[in-house]
Amino acid sequence: MSDGKIIDGKAFAERLRGRIKAAVEALGRDHGLRPGLAVVLVGEDPASQVYVRNKATQTVEVGMHSVEHKLDAATSQDELLALIAALNADETIDGILVQLPLPDQIDSQAVLDAIDPDKDVDGFHVINAGRLATGGAALVPCTPLGCLLLLQDRLGDLSGLHAVVVGRSNIVGKPMAQLLLGANCTVTVAHSRTRDLPAMVRQGDIVVAAVGRPEMVKGDWIKPGAAVIDVGINRVPAPEKGESKMKLVGDVEFASAVAVAGAITPVPGGVGPMTIACLLRNTLISAERRAGVAGEGDL
Ligand code: NDP
Repeated sequence: MSDGKIIDGKAFAERLRGRIKAAVEALGRDHGLRPGLAVVLVGEDPASQVYVRNKATQTVEVGMHSVEHKLDAATSQDELLALIAALNADETIDGILVQLPLPDQIDSQAVLDAIDPDKDVDGFHVINAGRLATGGAALVPCTPLGCLLLLQDRLGDLSGLHAVVVGRSNIVGKPMAQLLLGANCTVTVAHSRTRDLPAMVRQGDIVVAAVGRPEMVKGDWIKPGAAVIDVGINRVPAPEKGESKMKLVGDVEFASAVAVAGAITPVPGGVGPMTIACLLRNTLISAERRAGVAGEGDL
C-alpha cells in the first residue's frame, strides 16, 4: 500500500552511475580524458575503511581512474599537507577526498582548506561553500546534492514549496538549505535550539532530517502528503533479530511517517547510496571543467 511512497535511492543512484559511466566514456572517446579520483585515508577506522573501499570500487566501475592513499594513524599534519600538495599538482587527478574523521594530531579544516577548490569533490572547502551561497559554480557536498536530486526526481519543480531542514551542520544541513533555496523553495532551518520543533516540521511540504538522533521525527510531526528525506544513519540494537544484533535506522520514525507522508526515503536504501554516486558526479564535473569541456548539464 505504501510502496509507491518509497523513494528508492538505491535504484536512482544506480541510474545516475549509469549516466556518469556513459559520460566518462564520451570524455575518453572525444577528448582523450579519464577522470581520476584520489581518496586519502589516515588510520584504520573500520567504518572509514569500508567507505573508502566502496568508493574505490564504484569509481573503477564507472570507468574512472582510482587512487587510494592509506596513511599510518601517526601521520603528521605536515606529511598529509605534502600529499595534498602533490595531488593538487597531479594532472591525472580531478578529485581529492580526505576521509573524515582524521586523527587528533591533525587539524581537519586546515587539511580540507589545502585542497585545490577545483578538485574539492566533497565540496567542503570554504571557497565552494561561498560559491554555493552566492550562486556560483560550486562543487556541492555530496549528501545534500543527493537529497536534492531525489526530491527533484519525485516532485519535479520545487518552486514555492516550504522546505524544513532539521540540522545545520556544514556538511549536510547548511548546504541542503542553500540548495533548496537555489531551487526556489521557502526554507526553514531548524536545530537543537528551535522552539516547538514538531510544529515547525509540520509546516514543511518537504522535510529533510539531518540530526543524528534515531527516529526523532515522528509521523504526527509530518504534514499529510509531505515529502520526507531522511539523512540520518544510526546504528541501534535490534533484539528482535537476536542477541547483540544491530540495525540501521534514520532520524525519522519510518513506520509512523510513511503512513502520513506523500513520499519518503527509507534507511537504508534512501539517501545513503546517493552520496557516492554524487561524489562520482562531482569528479566528472571537475574533470570536465578543468578540461574546459561542456557536458555537466547532461547529468
Ligand atoms: P551533526 O551532528 O554535525 O549535526 C546535527 C544537527 O542536528 C545539528 O545542527 C544539531 O543542532 C541538530 N540537532 C541535534 N539534536 C537536535 C534536536 N534534538 N532537535 C533539533 N535539532 C537537533 O550531524 P551531520 O549533519 O553530520 O549528520 C546528521 C545525520 O546524517 C547523522 O545521522 C549522520 O550519520 C547522517 N549522515 C549521513 C550521510 C549519508 O547518508 N551518506 C552523510 C552525512 C551524514 P545544533 O547545531 O544546534 O547543535
